[in-house]
Amino acid sequence: MPVSDFELVEAWKHVLTLSKISAGQSITVLTSSATNKQTLRTAILAARSVGAIVNRLDLQPVNGALSLSRDPLAYVGVTPLTGNRPAMELLKASDLVLDLMTLLFSAEQHEILASGGRILLAVEPPEILLRMLPTLEDREKVLAASKLLQAAKTMHVTSPAGTDVQFTLGDYPILEEYGFCDQPGRWDHWPSGFLATWSNEGTAQGTIVLDKGDILLPQKSYLQDQVIFTINNGYVTNIEGGVDATLLKAYMESFNDPEVYAVSHVGWGLQERAHWSTLGLYDREATIGMDSRARAGNFLWSTGPNNEAGGTRDTACHIDIPMLNCTVLLDGAAVVKNGVLVK
Ligand code: FE
Repeated sequence: MPVSDFELVEAWKHVLTLSKISAGQSITVLTSSATNKQTLRTAILAARSVGAIVNRLDLQPVNGALSLSRDPLAYVGVTPLTGNRPAMELLKASDLVLDLMTLLFSAEQHEILASGGRILLAVEPPEILLRMLPTLEDREKVLAASKLLQAAKTMHVTSPAGTDVQFTLGDYPILEEYGFCDQPGRWDHWPSGFLATWSNEGTAQGTIVLDKGDILLPQKSYLQDQVIFTINNGYVTNIEGGVDATLLKAYMESFNDPEVYAVSHVGWGLQERAHWSTLGLYDREATIGMDSRARAGNFLWSTGPNNEAGGTRDTACHIDIPMLNCTVLLDGAAVVKNGVLVK
């Protein structure tokens, strides 16, 4: 449902204020052919109203002819910034980059953050941005849960459908997503509200059983049948099931890259304003599915790259897999029990 420019300008001002943007700081709005026009125009108005210097950098789309999907997260790695030194200099010199294009999983994103820049990704439709407008309480909740994750050496996930999988933790950083960028070098995503980290290389071990109604992204469908993943030494080594499994296998095979089967980030959702039902109410190309990623009490795991965590794997295929009804144990203590946050 549409929202007014006024509402979205106010929302942007709120997010920029939480991101500690003040008069005289510089914001670069990064756009491409799929950027939402209302999000762009209201971001610029809000940035001007808080006194920031605003530039817009519009880049050419890439990967369109390679990807099987129109989802911006379906084919990652090479971006319009690859080898684009003038654009990189502008972004690195900016206090805040508003990424309305999707720069995720790129060496360039890493370089901008390493130079102290901040990047806020915002590509969901305006009404989803408004519904999940970030708050200081979201930040507190994510940081409190993050303390538990930072202290944990193992994550063990089970489900009534048959999931029983272990991850050894500690070698990679924690991704704390609360929806705004209040620190130098910080990347975040509006909307969000979840935690993730990466299992130590080669340690993911066990079975993950997706149940009917669980979600694959970028497929953006509710599974009609179970999909059973066997995971050995950090890699998915077998996928079984019905039509959903057959389609997933064909999709992953199309990348012709053994690294697509690596287990990537693991974590859980903390956002009470994210809803599992949303995906069934939107056209596939209208959303990237942040509701299902961030929904409070889900378990979210993924396959593919780990370069945004400082790893070396940069495979183009990234599949996010949020699941209902899981129990997530950190060193034996539940943080999510049967799909519900432990409070
Ligand atoms: Fe992901």
